[in-house]
Amino acid sequence: MNSLNETPRANRLHIAIFGRRNSGKSTLINALTGHETSVTSPVAGTTTDPVYKSMEISGIGPCVLIDTAGFDDEGELGTLRIARTQDAMEKTDIAVIVCSTEDFTLEAQWGEALRKKKCSIIPVINKTDLYNGIDLLAEKAEKIFNAKPVCVSALKKEGMEALLEALRRAIPPDWENPDLTDGLAKKGDSVLLAMPQDIQAPKGRLILPQVQTIRSLLDKGCIVTSVTADQLEEGLASFKEPPDLIITDSQVFPLVWAKKPSESRLTSFSILMARNKGDIHTFLEGAKAIDRLTEHSKVLVAEACTHAPLSEDIGREKIPRLLRKKAGQGLQIDMVSGPDFPENLAQYDLIIHCGACMFNRKYVLSRLEKAVAAGVPITNYGVALAKLSGILEQISNII
Ligand code: SF4
Repeated sequence: MNSLNETPRANRLHIAIFGRRNSGKSTLINALTGHETSVTSPVAGTTTDPVYKSMEISGIGPCVLIDTAGFDDEGELGTLRIARTQDAMEKTDIAVIVCSTEDFTLEAQWGEALRKKKCSIIPVINKTDLYNGIDLLAEKAEKIFNAKPVCVSALKKEGMEALLEALRRAIPPDWENPDLTDGLAKKGDSVLLAMPQDIQAPKGRLILPQVQTIRSLLDKGCIVTSVTADQLEEGLASFKEPPDLIITDSQVFPLVWAKKPSESRLTSFSILMARNKGDIHTFLEGAKAIDRLTEHSKVLVAEACTHAPLSEDIGREKIPRLLRKKAGQGLQIDMVSGPDFPENLAQYDLIIHCGACMFNRKYVLSRLEKAVAAGVPITNYGVALAKLSGILEQISNII
């Protein structure tokens, strides 16, 4: 878990290292970071699930380095590892493809797949100390990847400065999340945060969307007041004028909507996350599918966290209850969490995703793209709850 002083992983540039087993990916990460981030061994396939390491690199800023399993892995377990590597590809902003043989067939295939995912690609020829004719290899790599390769010896820590420079140049201009409250609040605005601190709230801390929202508002110079949802009335009474904006948890939307002054605009943390990470217009469009659900429909609920279910869990309890009340008790609802996301999305009539504060923007957008490609409407918790509470129309004018 990130402290308030650290940039959350989801807001960091994601740099992933791809290559065959034993191409020196882990050694390269260790040479780049200057310490043993990844376990290295001459035995092929030492890295199993991708290893994520948050760090700061001069000229790049906060980033996550992802060490992936070899894309030439074999056997039943190997297939699972390749699936995890493919999943890491979905969140990658910059892909470093490590080449360590003279045959670039697999590397070229992965390069193509990564290009389709709109990743910036840096080819790296590793183990330069072992090759004669490195210039010829570099020429071949440049033709295949359409980018000049960086030649390094990760073991001897040679070529690291050139690689860092290539990384700095490869940063996609649009990789960063837009500011959470852009267009909603400005300097001097009064903002009331109504945050339920119930059984679902983690003990002793606020959840990431709340922390990030407070930071975004303070950076803008807003006057921020926080109350628990059950103290909304007392909180409102402490204002001389109604607050310009109220931000609450989607679960208490109807309650806050009923009590808020008409002058105050209302939104939720989940909707802020949808604006920030996904595509709010796709989510708004997707929410319309709720009206078309029947008891023969099938809905997928996807959550980025893998926490243990709680008794009044929003994804497992609250949203299913409201959906079945509207569509019929026969409505089928599948739940997935973490990296699990079904291949066959076309079987669903609607996908409802959590706010995905743990995922980077690239990952959320890739899920949206998959849903759109399968022709399945997708929305998120906040938008779905606003729709199910009958207030989506009213709040969508401030989205
Ligand atoms: S369930 Fe989703 S929105 Fe909620 S804390 Fe986890 S990642 Fe964030």
